Amino acid sequence: MKRAVYPGSFDPITYGHLDIIDRALQLFDELIIAVAVNPNKRALFSQEERCRMITEIVGNRSGLRVESFSGLLVTFVAARGAATIVKGLRAVSDFEFEFQMALLNRQLAPTLDTVFLMTQDRYAFLSSSSVREIASLGGSVHQLVPPSVEEALRVRFEVTPTPVSNGAHVVERD
Ligand code: ADP
Repeated sequence: MKRAVYPGSFDPITYGHLDIIDRALQLFDELIIAVAVNPNKRALFSQEERCRMITEIVGNRSGLRVESFSGLLVTFVAARGAATIVKGLRAVSDFEFEFQMALLNRQLAPTLDTVFLMTQDRYAFLSSSSVREIASLGGSVHQLVPPSVEEALRVRFEVTPTPVSNGAHVVERD
């Protein structure tokens, strides 16, 4: 039984993540999507919201589980009886960081390995942060995220224009 863990913030999940999930499921019998609490990043969606969104989208795929985790990734991976960490690679800029993380994780847990799956070129530019930014500015993320995520972003960024004295408008969140 080959079990792997795919960790990330998934704030929110995108078609780029889903592509990695589908391809990882071809390689492993079980995949655990590990939704991280990152104390250094201010998340748009809470960990519960992110887990719920992912479960709704991928819940029916066999061999797949969604869990939240905090703390050291290697500790979580070992506790789940998995031997592999799955990561996606988009660009050379991802490689620098991921290479360092993979080596650090190997130092911490020599029996665990990291497997990198290369993004499809149509998702190479896609990140959760760009999705958040586009949605916050009122742009369409239709091609980038599943419909339920698009709707959650719309609700989160629902804005009410408020007139100000110089005739311009400031935008306030509800
Ligand atoms: P981000 O906020 O950069 O989208 P996450 O922490 O949610 O990142 O990413 C989790 C994992 O998914 C990382 O290994 C990341 O490289 C990978 N990933 C994110 N977006 C893509 C994409 N468009 N194509 C391939 N891998 C991706």
